[in-house]
Amino acid sequence: MAILTKGPRGTQDVLPEESYKWKYLEKKVMDVVNLYGFREIRIPTFEHTELFNRSVGDTTDVVQKEMYTFTDKGGRSITLRPEGTAGTLRSAIEHGLLGDALPLKVAYLLSAFRYEKPQAGRLREFHQFGVELLGTPSPAADVEVISMVAQLFGELGIEARLEINSIGCPTCRAKYQQALREHFSARKEELCDSCKDRLERNPLRLLDCKSPVCQEIGQGAPVMLDFLCEECAEHFGQVKARLDEVEIPYVINPKIVRGLDYYVKTVFEFISDQIGAQSTICGGGRYDGLIQQLGGPDLPGIGFAMGLERILMTLEASGFRFPEEKECSAYIGSIGDKASAKAALLTGQLRKEGFRAECDTMGRSVKAQMKYANKLGARFSMIIGDSELEQGTAKLKKMADGSVIDIRLDAARNEPGNLVKAIFDDRLQEVASALKTE
Ligand code: ATP
Ligand code: MG
Repeated sequence: MAILTKGPRGTQDVLPEESYKWKYLEKKVMDVVNLYGFREIRIPTFEHTELFNRSVGDTTDVVQKEMYTFTDKGGRSITLRPEGTAGTLRSAIEHGLLGDALPLKVAYLLSAFRYEKPQAGRLREFHQFGVELLGTPSPAADVEVISMVAQLFGELGIEARLEINSIGCPTCRAKYQQALREHFSARKEELCDSCKDRLERNPLRLLDCKSPVCQEIGQGAPVMLDFLCEECAEHFGQVKARLDEVEIPYVINPKIVRGLDYYVKTVFEFISDQIGAQSTICGGGRYDGLIQQLGGPDLPGIGFAMGLERILMTLEASGFRFPEEKECSAYIGSIGDKASAKAALLTGQLRKEGFRAECDTMGRSVKAQMKYANKLGARFSMIIGDSELEQGTAKLKKMADGSVIDIRLDAARNEPGNLVKAIFDDRLQEVASALKTE
């Protein structure tokens, strides 16, 4: 029966006591992207498998080992998206968004699926925030998206190291791949099985193999930066100069090759030292040529994606204080059916005014209801019973100091003794005294 009561490996539930952190983060990222003129796009969870084969690339780990692919009842090969760029470009092409109004700037928040070995910071269903800036080859675009990440991390107090590299274009990369093949072939027998395979198909990936032997062999490997053609070298030079100009610190890491095939020229990662081995919290790069490869116009593009689970881990590790959820303004308890109906009515009035309020739905004793009001952290509480109904008044207790205000159960909205007014006045007083002490 465990299969019914335990979620699949590599999935995670976001429980009620955690979900406000997600909501906070999601709003924060969308607020920052709006400042940069990006607008949200929402794309399907699954696409035709071919889309990922073409874009992410046949030779990548993602396509070869990690995709959730199935045949649907109509006989089509369908894949749960392993990332957001392919679907976003497909959508932009399909809906003609790449016409005159360039650049196109879109952002997304989505779940992605990869059949990986689950561990801290590595899930099979995970969540990404990403952006795509389409239609401009300029280094200014590269620096604009990097600046946006830097601003977001700054606002969240995340300390992450920016590492950049250029992996050139298909022309200059071909020469580099040949040089890498020569370097690694010298000790081919010692390479891990995956890397023996990569040697022919995708030698760049040898550089980020995790096996100690492959890493050791990779130590003296040639670096892409020495092979850049004039255009790619010039582009990379401008990216660096502009980063200096806007005072964003970076280090050049010639080992960054990125796991997806579509990248050219600039690639970058933001690394956090606070969350262990899965330390890349954001990865991105330029992908000129990809839009055309997917059947769209010949337009360049650049983007990034960050893993929200890893961002949250970083925030937790740095002791980030998430703003609290809306506090409970009042608990309106009751004894008996009639009083319960009255309590529901008053609670409803408070809610319509935008206050969080709660009443009894469990038929609990007065004592248990007061305990519950305490647990909720309600600012005020009130209990209505037969005698309160008879008198038409009840006592509203301020939980912090035990002081009591008389409430008239039938008072109109603006009259003294009205419940909403009492709570509203208290809030006003509190704001006023907070302003005074500032
Ligand atoms: P990694 O180095 O972790 O394998 P990647 O190069 O496969 O990352 P991308 O495809 O560029 O990652 O995805 C962008 C970001 O999404 C990563 O930097 C990471 O923060 C996050 N991410 C990728 N795969 C996972 C996963 N399986 N679980 C959680 N987050 C992930
Ligand atoms: Mg990966």
